[in-house]
Amino acid sequence: MPPADRERTAYAPLFDRADHTTAPDRTTKGPTMDFDLSAEEREIRDWVRTFVRKEIVPLEPQVLERERRNERGLTADELKSLQDKARSSGFFGIQTPESHGGMGQGAVVAALIEIELGRSFVPFRFAGEADNILFSATEEQQETYLRPTIEGTRRSCFAITEPGAGSDARAIRTSARREGDEWVINGEKTFITGGHEADFVMVFAVTDKQKGADGGVTCFLVDRDRGWTSTPIDTMGEWGPAALVFDDVRVPHSAILGEEGKGFELAMRWIGKGRYMLPARALGSCERLVEMGMEWARNRVTFGQPIAERQAIQWMVADSAVEIEALRWLVLTAAWQVDRGLDSRQSQSMAKLYGGVKANEIVDRVLQMHGGMGYTRELPVERWYRELRLLRIYEGTDEIQRRTIARNLLKGHVSVRGHLG
Ligand SMILES: Cc1cc2nc3c(=O)[nH]c(=O)nc-3n(C[C@H](O)[C@H](O)[C@H](O)COP(=O)(O)OP(=O)(O)OC[C@H]3O[C@@H](n4cnc5c(N)ncnc54)[C@H](O)[C@@H]3O)c2cc1C
Repeated sequence: MPPADRERTAYAPLFDRADHTTAPDRTTKGPTMDFDLSAEEREIRDWVRTFVRKEIVPLEPQVLERERRNERGLTADELKSLQDKARSSGFFGIQTPESHGGMGQGAVVAALIEIELGRSFVPFRFAGEADNILFSATEEQQETYLRPTIEGTRRSCFAITEPGAGSDARAIRTSARREGDEWVINGEKTFITGGHEADFVMVFAVTDKQKGADGGVTCFLVDRDRGWTSTPIDTMGEWGPAALVFDDVRVPHSAILGEEGKGFELAMRWIGKGRYMLPARALGSCERLVEMGMEWARNRVTFGQPIAERQAIQWMVADSAVEIEALRWLVLTAAWQVDRGLDSRQSQSMAKLYGGVKANEIVDRVLQMHGGMGYTRELPVERWYRELRLLRIYEGTDEIQRRTIARNLLKGHVSVRGHLG
């Protein structure tokens, strides 16, 4: 019996059901999967798209010029005035609960917004956001830290990384020693985003050496005037993090965020929150970069023809478009899982890894399409090239995401069949 007939016999009932004459009528039942946006999601996405086109993109030449002079792309006043304009249309605190004055939107909407914002390199973000772990603060701490952060009158920073502990965050050595009703913090943190501008820090310190990360790390809320110092670190990006030093910095017991000894869980919650947001922003940048690349390729003539006619260039466009589409669904699936309350850790790691790797490949291709012009500071491509490189490093490097993804699979926590099973 030919192999095809053998299979048909073994699986006859299934084949019968797949027969077109007996298959269920999908036109009356409707699709079982929905990849569309709701009317509200579309409306929000379109509003942000228009805001970016009308208010943000026109600032790009000025931002590039300033950054070339080593100045900030947007002054604090300019950022605030843009944020106020958005706020007057209700765009304030996208994921901040309505009880705290925000929009209370879920992860899918947040990702859709981030994709739109990513289409420009102008360093804009909507106002009204605060670190997720600050919502675990006591009522008194919320008054001092959470509400002013949401209102934009105080700035926070998150400090776990140390010179000797990056990927291996469990190896932190900054310590906090109890003296009566006070804690004395000593140690050094590094690569802290916003660390030189922040008014207070969420700093993670070892409070029980024996337990270490398993119940011996505590998070403290520490105002700058308690005595910690910061030094900016120059990077290949347009904005730099900072190194922080704690030299006998004293804080009251009430400075503990959450519970004593439960700091490591808080740190993981902070880091885990944004793993779909970073690749979402990169996705928007990639869309714009490929559009710029295609525009250039249509107009740049070599050997009597636009380079867009060459297969070498067409393949760059095609590969980039496929990767952008794949990234879109990785990001949105992870966000969808967050909104459904499903365990999204595997999907978030996949989106972060794929986003970091592919965004870097795409920006490299687009730079290549532009030839020498891509390498200049006349165009923003080289700027994006430098900025996107960070995505492969912070909030878990490529290697750490791969480690997480492989471990989850090998230990049987998840399947290669994904969330559909
Ligand atoms: C611009 C910027 C902003 C940042 N912002 C913050 C912030 O706000 N707060 C904060 O706390 N931290 C922040 N970080 C720190 C960032 O999270 C760390 O840099 C990152 O986790 C990597 O740690 P590391 O630099 O010590 O590298 P290492 O951990 O020393 O890693 C070096 C290399 O070894 C690889 N590696 C490490 N372990 C393994 C392993 N087990 N298997 C295979 N490969 C491995 C890494 O992937 C990497 O390629 C920031 C970093 C940068 C650059």
